[in-house]
Amino acid sequence: MKISEKQSEILISLVHTAGQEILKIYNNKIIKNYKKDNTPVTNADLKANEIICRGLKINFPKIPIISEENDTNKSTKKKNFWLVDPLDGTKEFLKKNGEFTVNIGLIENGKPIYGIIYMPVKNKLYFTKENSSYFTKLTKKGEMKDLKKIKIKKRKKNIIVISRSHSLAKKDMIKAKKIIFKKFNANKILRSGSSIKLCYIAHGLANVYPRYGTTMEWDTAAGDAILRFAGGRIRTLDRKILRYGKPKYKNTSFIAKG
Ligand SMILES: [Mg+2]
Repeated sequence: MKISEKQSEILISLVHTAGQEILKIYNNKIIKNYKKDNTPVTNADLKANEIICRGLKINFPKIPIISEENDTNKSTKKKNFWLVDPLDGTKEFLKKNGEFTVNIGLIENGKPIYGIIYMPVKNKLYFTKENSSYFTKLTKKGEMKDLKKIKIKKRKKNIIVISRSHSLAKKDMIKAKKIIFKKFNANKILRSGSSIKLCYIAHGLANVYPRYGTTMEWDTAAGDAILRFAGGRIRTLDRKILRYGKPKYKNTSFIAKG
């Protein structure tokens, strides 16, 4: 399927609205709870989820929605489905460092064919349109400002981007960094929360993002689409291109590259 101009505008407006509601909570009162898997969830995750799911249902009634904040035990056999992370980077949100995003990805036959990622604090938006990736700033009203097409850049330096929130002690983190430097022949390491890391590669600000351990498909779908249409790929450790609609929507370790 193809996302039309009108549908693209609707999706931009949806992530913008969800982002503005997240910001209201961010600047006011965050209520934190824990899910069954012991990960944090806030009133902002739930509010953004409500807005996005309602909007998708109205505008795309036939496409199932798989969201981090809905029951994901049911799997879908449909050719197309949405993968939604209404607030990616809840830990960053709670730390108030601004590195969280609103993510919507669309899958077709196991491949991400559309993606949109909005960073409310910085008003930055990445999205795909007709097999290209774009970056724009959004005004308060949600209008695009300085829209430009983005492409992977070949760079002399090898810049690695890794997660900010981690469970390693400082000493172990220094060790892990050394190993990563050597393995990827890196010149520099950037650290960032959420799917911003995939946007960095698509935008030519970093080259490699290695991610070891389990992630969920809604964490990567939108960023994967943006990265692909900018000329990059996410591959599993056995060098296969990452696919979607896997059991329980779980990703294995991967390396994203420009
Ligand atoms: Mg989330």
